[in-house]
Amino acid sequence: MTSSTLKTFGQQLSRRSWAEPWKIKAVEPIHMIDRDERARALEEAGYNTFLLRSADVYIDLLTDSGTSAMSDRQWAGMMMGDEAYAGSNNFYHLEKAVQDYYGYKHMVPTHQGRGAEHLLSQTAIKPGQSVPGNMYFTTTRLHHELAGGTFIDVIIDEAHDPNNEHPFKGNVDLEKMEALVTEVGAENVAYVSLAGTVNMAGGQPVSMANVRELREFCDRHGIRIFLDATRMVENAYFIQQREDGYADKSIAEILKKFCGYTDGAWMSAKKDNLVNIGGWLAVNNFDLFDALRNLVVVFEGLHTYGGMAGRDMEALAIGIEEAVEDDHVHSRVGQVLYLGELLLDWEIPIVKPVGGHAIFLDAKGFYPHIPQDQFPAQVLTAQLYLDSGVRGMERGNVSAGRDPNTGDHRYPALELTRLAIPRRVYTQAHMDVVAEAVKTVYDARQQTKGLEMVYEPKDLRFFQARFTPIS
Ligand SMILES: *Cc1c(COP(=O)(O)O)cnc(C)c1O
Repeated sequence: MTSSTLKTFGQQLSRRSWAEPWKIKAVEPIHMIDRDERARALEEAGYNTFLLRSADVYIDLLTDSGTSAMSDRQWAGMMMGDEAYAGSNNFYHLEKAVQDYYGYKHMVPTHQGRGAEHLLSQTAIKPGQSVPGNMYFTTTRLHHELAGGTFIDVIIDEAHDPNNEHPFKGNVDLEKMEALVTEVGAENVAYVSLAGTVNMAGGQPVSMANVRELREFCDRHGIRIFLDATRMVENAYFIQQREDGYADKSIAEILKKFCGYTDGAWMSAKKDNLVNIGGWLAVNNFDLFDALRNLVVVFEGLHTYGGMAGRDMEALAIGIEEAVEDDHVHSRVGQVLYLGELLLDWEIPIVKPVGGHAIFLDAKGFYPHIPQDQFPAQVLTAQLYLDSGVRGMERGNVSAGRDPNTGDHRYPALELTRLAIPRRVYTQAHMDVVAEAVKTVYDARQQTKGLEMVYEPKDLRFFQARFTPIS
């Protein structure tokens, strides 16, 4: 060894890195198609990454939904599927896992998160009521609206500023709640639609202190709180890391305590719960459960499978347990932070602080010269794919949709491209490749031009909209 390699070696010895708490048992090969092929694929997809074929994608950060790698225990559980139409063993395992880890009394399974949102919205919202929440989520708000409700954003103002480093940007602003109740009356508030690590704000958490205060406020006014628990485990991690008094509590303890301040929760199990498909809805009130149990039969399936196969319920029951293991959550969020810190070192504009499940690139910061009705975040998402085969998702003006009253684009303050990290799928080396791709696109930002929308679906337009470059 030369003296310089010896020196490097010595430095490495004094370092203490973390590593993913798993080793790989089966691999799925991936490869990158060349730039001309990517350009053709992008054009065929109407510059919408939702319309690309996955075979044309190299590193897929479209979503962390249903893209997790299951553990060997979960795969073993799949073999234990009890495919009885009614009363499957796996249903009882799932019910117990939800009760043990989230603490709610009654549970109905659903095929995925939006199935649960549909049932809850139809059961708990009366036409004309307001549904306050800590920033909208696409499918959640649509189900509020389909049930005749109006979503009211009551998140703290800091959440709309990508550079504000508030540690709990997902918090509810109680003054906004107070103003709403004064304006419409508590009887016209269906419930608070509270989300853990707020996706559209950049994966930003809610503090325990905030949910406690919200509970007190709602108790005074007789208003229920339902939790979008989709990424509540990651929220619990941020409480452990950032809030006084929780450093020595486990993720599992924090999760259950937080849920204890709410009346029920719905879940897209495709996220935190480490399965490829599934969801659930859980509540404490028996009468509400009874109504949900009746409705699930109409839209999802019998109340003991709700659209899932027995084997899927088994994998989910095991996934719930694995999801709250501290070393898993630490490395899951750690991967996201690692990518975020690389980008911050290069002064690339991203939402700060770095969130739990994804990096959100600030497209307004990349392309101040592209007006918001030429969809800067859609542009950035397309450029990143073109450069490197990395697939992200638009979370800006296209996702926000049109205001149902005025028919105009909603022009959200946050115009973002999301790079969501699937759980237990990619390594740190993949994160390096992604960071370098983002830097290349950032360096070419001044030459980049906007997009025009040439096909626009009525609901959730971001999934299927098509675009063409403005020359
Ligand atoms: C994904 C998601 C949903 C909807 O769940 P699906 O399983 O995709 O139907 C709801 N809320 C949040 C916060 C989500 O991320």
